[in-house]
Amino acid sequence: MSFCTRLARLTLFCVLPASLAAQTKGIPDWCKPLPRPEYETLLRMPVNDPWFEVYRVAPDVYAIYEPHQAEETISYLIVGSKQALLFDTGMGIGNIQKVTSQLTKRFVVVLNSHTHNDHVGGNWQFNSIFGMNTAFTRANAKGSRTDAQAEIASGQICGVLPAGFNPKTYATKPWRVSFLVHDGFVINLGGGRKLEVIATPGHTPDAIALLDRANGLLFTGDTYYPAPIWLYRPETDMDAYVASAKKLAALERAKPCTRFKTSSFFSPHLRKG
Ligand SMILES: [Zn+2]
Repeated sequence: MSFCTRLARLTLFCVLPASLAAQTKGIPDWCKPLPRPEYETLLRMPVNDPWFEVYRVAPDVYAIYEPHQAEETISYLIVGSKQALLFDTGMGIGNIQKVTSQLTKRFVVVLNSHTHNDHVGGNWQFNSIFGMNTAFTRANAKGSRTDAQAEIASGQICGVLPAGFNPKTYATKPWRVSFLVHDGFVINLGGGRKLEVIATPGHTPDAIALLDRANGLLFTGDTYYPAPIWLYRPETDMDAYVASAKKLAALERAKPCTRFKTSSFFSPHLRKG
């Protein structure tokens, strides 16, 4: 079962085709078509894969949203003048690499907010993966089948899985960290786009947030989202989590949290428990 989230049903403006909506009868509310007016002002980017919805949430920042799985995972593509960074790679159910290639021609490096399965599913598709130097990261880089299979259990999928996806063989594929980062590490994407790694251990040992100070953008990972956060897994450290939450809160006081709509505070899921 998914452990990262039970997120606020926010909000995302979600329109399902009638045929798809008909298939959602009898499954949870999160997957029914809802008006999510908060998202009406965001520019939706055309991509040729119906598994994803992509929204421009700030200049050169795109939310790559997976509305058809219960995690409602959001990965973020942040584009600079020299290269782009993909903050998380989602479930690995759809082809996120193809989506990023439609959004930018820049070289894309991957960095994960942490390495739970629903954030690293597409890592294997990329050659350049930045990561934290933890045993937890290395263990998850080996891939897993159990957590992945739980994500497609009964009630976890809304509508149809992508063509060519095989539920029987679905697993998180192995990947390899090619470059180690640490708290305070700055990634310069060019054009004034610099991203600062903020270590936020607690939810997992390798949890991080990303801060774009110049543009006032904070990408929180699973350390913050506006709903109850599940903190019961063996990898959870509650004391560390509290310290990390305070660390982010101090940043938030400097920049008011207005979240997705006004593009200053971005979290990686969209659902409630
Ligand atoms: Zn998580």
